[in-house]
Amino acid sequence: MRGDCHIHVIMDGVNYRQAVDLHREQVQDEPIRRCLSAYRDRGITFLREGGDARHVSERARELAPAYGLDYRTPLFAIHKKGHYGGIVGYAFETWDEYRALVGQVREKQGDFIKIMTSGLIDFRQVGALSEEGLEPETIREMIHIAHEEGFAVMSHTNGAANALAAIEAGVDSLEHGAFLSEECLEALAESRTVWVPTLSPCLNMLGSGRYDDGVLREIGRIHRENIRQAAQKGALLAVGSDAGAWQVPHGPGTETEERWMRQALGEGAEELLERGLEEIRRRFRRPA
Ligand SMILES: [Zn+2]
Repeated sequence: MRGDCHIHVIMDGVNYRQAVDLHREQVQDEPIRRCLSAYRDRGITFLREGGDARHVSERARELAPAYGLDYRTPLFAIHKKGHYGGIVGYAFETWDEYRALVGQVREKQGDFIKIMTSGLIDFRQVGALSEEGLEPETIREMIHIAHEEGFAVMSHTNGAANALAAIEAGVDSLEHGAFLSEECLEALAESRTVWVPTLSPCLNMLGSGRYDDGVLREIGRIHRENIRQAAQKGALLAVGSDAGAWQVPHGPGTETEERWMRQALGEGAEELLERGLEEIRRRFRRPA
């Protein structure tokens, strides 16, 4: 079984704005079909979506079975108003609003809940994020409420404090996870959380001239070292390319991510990643 545990069908790896604008009036099937074919043609048959705000993944889910794909989607991601996440979903301000969004996912038969709990990696300097994360209590409550509703939770989380809060709250998968601390890696290893480190958005930009290669290399080195250590301690890890992000094309992007992950993990990578994928397939399904 070959899979990618973090993709965004709505984006095309080239020009985010243009890709999203295609669906402004109504969802277009053509780019979605092209995307799904790219996976089918490579035998990548399990896909987990990160969500979008334009109903594109909702449509992708309808089309996926015809391509022989097992496609799981949160439909949209949920973020706290005033924080990062608007490009992939909807915002809440109060807990009632958060519960209403979770309810919407249930009503529309989303497979799991995707939450946004921190900013993006700032590729201009090592160790920085585009914004700090939410309060640990907020992160814990978001996970708690989704779990109460029977959903697995996929959490976009960078930074040690945010990640620790998510792991301790029993998040089902931790996405990106840049700059984790020793304490985080220990907690990860003791938890059932699957870490999906998405190396591609950083490493695929090497040589592009968009950012300083020295900075990218150092961020990549820290990330790979953490991946190696997490695996050594016994943490669960899975392949997720963040396909759709700049320089991460659908299809080939998964193959590159597999290569980055195998390089980082060394011997035993194959079995380890197979186990992570199995965990995600088993847990990230629609609640009864
Ligand atoms: Zn993503």
